[in-house]
Amino acid sequence: MGKLAKMPNTRLLIAQVHELAQRERVTAILSIAAIAMIGWVHWDAVDRPLVIGWIICMSAVQIMRIAAIGIRSPGLAETRSACLRRNGQVAINVLNGLGWGAIWFMLDTGRIDFLFMFKFGAIAGTTGIALNSLSVILPVYLGFLLSQMALTVAYLAGATPFLTPAQRMAFVTGAIVYAIVLCAIARNAARLTRQAMMQEMEREAALIEARESHLRELDLRKSLQAQSRQIEETNQKLNAANERLQVLARQDALTGVANRRHLAEELERNFQTFHRYANQFSLILLDIDHFKGINDLYGHQTGDLVLKATTARILDGLREIDHVGRWGGEEFLCILPNTGFEEALACAERLRRDLASARLVDGEPTLAVTASFGVATCAQDDSIDTLMGRADKALYEAKEKGRNRIVGISAPD
Ligand code: GH3
Ligand code: MG
Ligand code: MG
Repeated sequence: MGKLAKMPNTRLLIAQVHELAQRERVTAILSIAAIAMIGWVHWDAVDRPLVIGWIICMSAVQIMRIAAIGIRSPGLAETRSACLRRNGQVAINVLNGLGWGAIWFMLDTGRIDFLFMFKFGAIAGTTGIALNSLSVILPVYLGFLLSQMALTVAYLAGATPFLTPAQRMAFVTGAIVYAIVLCAIARNAARLTRQAMMQEMEREAALIEARESHLRELDLRKSLQAQSRQIEETNQKLNAANERLQVLARQDALTGVANRRHLAEELERNFQTFHRYANQFSLILLDIDHFKGINDLYGHQTGDLVLKATTARILDGLREIDHVGRWGGEEFLCILPNTGFEEALACAERLRRDLASARLVDGEPTLAVTASFGVATCAQDDSIDTLMGRADKALYEAKEKGRNRIVGISAPD
């Protein structure tokens, strides 16, 4: 566990093991071809059993190299498994290096000849080619190189009576220098490979992060869109409710026409128009006669029906530009824009006759209703109060004079 803790980057180790496995597959297969060739070259020159023994052992090592690639340790953690695979590769390649170094002893001809030089070529070739594949993990390559070189140096130093001391010294020195050069190159290659792998991993991590943040952004955008849709819907409902409220706030609940507040606004508006453009307007204030008696005789509900029916009759008798509203209990106010005093009197008369002759409530043929009317037309010096005061006074007079009649009070000169 101590060793594992020291690993600076376990992901890098896993990537290295994986990369080494890819490269090992190719070099192990190529090695089998090289082994066969070395066996063939030495076939008649040294003891045949030794040649066959070396070929078999070396081929077995190559098969081990290939087989080790596929070994998985499902029970172990990924890091531990990668460590084991790396150490396994080191061990197999030490064995592989020893096998290559053993050609000096097992395939020895005992003299400087073509096969002696050929073995040098084979050693140089394998260590050079393996540099490319095994230096992904430096200890694996060093295991291979140093074990092979150790046997080579041991052979050159101790088992070559056919060499002069000077020749021996030259071969040994050459082998050691070559090994040192290979070590330096391998170290550099391992560093470069490691850097490339780390960059690749960083790039992949950045790519994953970018993809994840893109997905997060999409999610966020979707939820924002859903939220803004919800807000929009709520706003629409609120607006509709507000509009409805505004209508209700200006409407009389029983008759559906304007209430007193709305009528006051309309009066104000007509007054402003009158002062700015001199558009004359008139008021008709009407009050149902003896309405209390209707309630008493027919009941409150029928009284309500009478109020509704009266409203309908008044609306029928007026123009579209006129405003009608309920001023009080059984009292209605009509605002007639662009209407002079005489026209307003005529209009009131029309309404009075129409109301008096109407059958207002189904099932009550004897129920008849009349109303008294007060008429006033705005004058230059009027305020809302004085104008309404005249209409009110006129209505009062109409009641006084016997009801079911119209009284108009024109503005004082
Ligand atoms: P006048 O001819 O002098 O106007 O007599 P009146 O009976 O019409 O006047 P009064 O002011 O004495 O009575 C008005 C009645 O109107 C009293 C009240 O109960 C009734 N009233 C007011 N609002 C409503 C309503 O919404 N529905 C019904 N059914 N009656 C109402
Ligand atoms: Mg009244
Ligand atoms: Mg009344």
